[in-house]
Amino acid sequence: MSSVQVAVRVRPLNEREKLLSSKVIIHMRGNTTSIHKPSSGRVDKLKDRGKTFSYDYSFDSTDVDSPTFASQAKIFKDVGSNVLKTAFDGFNACVFAYGQTGSGKSYTMMGHKVDKGLIPRICDELFLEISNRNKSEAMSFYTEVSYLEIYNERVQDLLKKRPPCSEGGGLKVREHPTDGPYVENLSKHVVQSQSNMESLITLGNASRTIASTGMNDFSSRSHTIFTIMFTQGLVDGELPHERRSKIHLVDLAGSERADSTHTTGTRLKEGANINKSLVTLGSVISALADLAVSGQSAKKKQIFIPYRDSVLTWLLKDSLGGNSITTVVATISPADVNYEETLSTLRFASRAKNIMNTPTVNEN
Ligand code: ADP
Ligand code: MG
Repeated sequence: MSSVQVAVRVRPLNEREKLLSSKVIIHMRGNTTSIHKPSSGRVDKLKDRGKTFSYDYSFDSTDVDSPTFASQAKIFKDVGSNVLKTAFDGFNACVFAYGQTGSGKSYTMMGHKVDKGLIPRICDELFLEISNRNKSEAMSFYTEVSYLEIYNERVQDLLKKRPPCSEGGGLKVREHPTDGPYVENLSKHVVQSQSNMESLITLGNASRTIASTGMNDFSSRSHTIFTIMFTQGLVDGELPHERRSKIHLVDLAGSERADSTHTTGTRLKEGANINKSLVTLGSVISALADLAVSGQSAKKKQIFIPYRDSVLTWLLKDSLGGNSITTVVATISPADVNYEETLSTLRFASRAKNIMNTPTVNEN
């Protein structure tokens, strides 16, 4: 058994928050994160001691000049390198970025060209490690990737030419009796080098951007899953065997999409704001957390985990309460104006921490 690892990362104040003279209400110390309720009066301020949460990691990226500043390299060192170790040991791994729109999910997962995030760093390091091991061990390595997007419960392949998301019907999710859920006809690409991988990432990101043109709030509504399928074969050992690992790197839709209470007017009427995959993710995590706290198995307690209620949770079934070593990176804004959303993200992160997974080495 292994519990889901949870990291929280707070970004710097953005220009808008600075213009609004927003106050920083998030403080991190060691592995704890505290949030203070913005107050109008002095009395409130004295009363409010704030709420403190503890996680596996609290990454403070508010102040570039601070000695404790959590850079992209630091996130990779603490979270990404563990993913790679997991994969070389033959386990599945998954990292989710969860948080409100603009809180730093894509920055953390993908980053910018000069300031790479987890996905490109994991890929770079994977090929470095492969070339190191190639020198010393009689191993063979085989790497494939796929990259998909879920928008409105429809799956689109980001590595294949296709009609824009709004037009196409999307790919179907199926479930294999032993291998579990998968996307039918999703393209898989064999990758042999770092530069190979880089071109695929660029291609996928570009097709995401093209699809978003002309669509309101596209990036806040869609989820992306970048998957590395990694196989190691022992070439000349006495017992030839193979180790397989699947790494899912997930950039979720904005967490505000799980909740209608913050939106008003037309958008609420259209009902377009609620994101089924995100709502179901919340339900799955709450159900799994309740289970873990009660210390019983779902079967025994006859608790139903609604994986199949959404495309996202169905595809990531293994990563949630199953055969995977999973990390949630909750990204937050430091500003008082985002108090409610941030508190809700911190609570989500706390619930996720209770989930127990059962990773096993995939070997034959
Ligand atoms: P999300 O994907 O959660 O909607 P983004 O990752 O796109 O949010 O971040 C919004 C903006 O804030 C981007 O311009 C991004 O570069 C910037 N940003 C986010 N997190 C950080 C951080 N930790 N350090 C510096 N800039 C950040
Ligand atoms: Mg984003």
